[in-house]
Amino acid sequence: MKSRKRQSSAGRIRRIHNRLLEVYGPQAWWPAQTRFEVILGAYLTQNTAWKAVELSLANLRAAGALTIAGLRGVSLDELQRLIRPSGFITRKAPALKAFVSMLDAEFGGSLDTLSAIPTDTLRERLLTLPGVGPETADAIMLYALGHTVPVADEYLRRIAERHRLITPPPQKNRRGYDSLVQLTSEAFASEPANERAQHFNEFHALTVAVGKAHCGRTPRCEGCPLAYDLENA
Ligand code: SF4
Repeated sequence: MKSRKRQSSAGRIRRIHNRLLEVYGPQAWWPAQTRFEVILGAYLTQNTAWKAVELSLANLRAAGALTIAGLRGVSLDELQRLIRPSGFITRKAPALKAFVSMLDAEFGGSLDTLSAIPTDTLRERLLTLPGVGPETADAIMLYALGHTVPVADEYLRRIAERHRLITPPPQKNRRGYDSLVQLTSEAFASEPANERAQHFNEFHALTVAVGKAHCGRTPRCEGCPLAYDLENA
């Protein structure tokens, strides 16, 4: 019974993806010019609106610190100043420095070398870094390092809770995160690997789009493209 319910939820996730794609179109994520910029954005966007991240990225670009070499060369104080618009600078600046230190010490300063290690090993390594939780690790892996992993976030958690896609409802903790990732994996499990990566990419971007437009702290279901699914909840 439990697995029938889970399969049904996975099918609903597929339909939710298709519906959102129909309404919002391809999102062309991640909004960045380089893989390293994706990584910086994944750190900076924690607890912060994307517009603030854009200001920080513009500061970093102007200072020549939007590359691995540039970030390596900038002092911690200067880095804090540059990323001030994104907030939490005393946590985020050392975390960015720690990422580059790890890259230099263990992977010859190369994102290609880092991305070549097996998915599970890579995820565990990223999760040991300061300032990296599951969502940041998975976003870096999917959007910057080319690994086929789903990304979950608070918007997806709200949708899953409000549409009763997972029982019990996913909590704001590691277990809740893992249940959302598991459900997303199941929804796209039948796809070939390369198409699955594209679906994970698009699905995360689309849930952010519907979350911003309708499914914030207070849901605005009227006119929401996912209102049709509430009757399945
Ligand atoms: S706003 Fe309502 S219909 Fe839209 S995703 Fe949230 S709960 Fe569902």
